[in-house]
Amino acid sequence: MTSTPLESIRHLIIDMDGVLYRGNRLMPGADRLLPWLDQHGIKYVLVTNNSTRTPSQYAEKLRRMGLVVSPGLVLTSSQATASYLQRVAEDGDRVYCIGEDGLRQALAQAGFEFSEVDPSYIVVGLDTGFTYEKLKRACLAIRAGAGFIATNPDLTFPGEEGILPGCGSLIAAIQACTGVAPKVIGKPEPGLLQAAMDMMASQPENTAILGDRLDTDVLGGHRLGITTILILSGVSRPEDAASASIKPDYVFWDLPELMRSFSAPAVSPPKKTIWRRKS
Ligand SMILES: [Mg+2]
Repeated sequence: MTSTPLESIRHLIIDMDGVLYRGNRLMPGADRLLPWLDQHGIKYVLVTNNSTRTPSQYAEKLRRMGLVVSPGLVLTSSQATASYLQRVAEDGDRVYCIGEDGLRQALAQAGFEFSEVDPSYIVVGLDTGFTYEKLKRACLAIRAGAGFIATNPDLTFPGEEGILPGCGSLIAAIQACTGVAPKVIGKPEPGLLQAAMDMMASQPENTAILGDRLDTDVLGGHRLGITTILILSGVSRPEDAASASIKPDYVFWDLPELMRSFSAPAVSPPKKTIWRRKS
């Protein structure tokens, strides 16, 4: 496989959490990244595996941190799930939704009706109001032949009280009582990233994903054949990148280093090199 020079990238899929912000804190350089991409004529979509918020809620979260972004540039796993369902569902198919605002709104906007009785699909995202009753409804419907679709596979996520159960843990409960594995849309499965490419009408050879996780962003990008850029400001560490079986095409300490490298074509780094901060 030949290395794609950074300068040939015209479309960028940007993972938000751990790249643009952590919690409610903007990452260094995040305030300059989007104007910088605009100046260089690079299109972008901001993506997240998180299914709970709507694009407008994400745009508002970013605005509170000082980033002005149109909700139309935000793509969540909920929207990608609704788009997928639009392609596979038949007229009149109704869904039983286990999830929060982000997922319910995406499904409603895609024209789906919700039903607890004889749904054609069980659609699952993170739901902090998950109950035995919801598990029972999913169990009965899937055993009766309903399709099983999930927004994202994340077993856990970091919360204020510690590591908390994520969508993947709800999927595991449903899988345990049905013996059925869901169709998963979020990273590292291709659904969300393919939807982001469709939004930009981009091709693999001029598209990259910028993320902070090897197991979702880099693996997902690798599966789609796009360039993968790992940033070490989030979850994955330098030693993880060095020992990973699927290595990112580029690794940077932070966004300022990425922007410096992009704008200096003569010194673009060789593939699989970890750039270390000068001490
Ligand atoms: Mg992330």
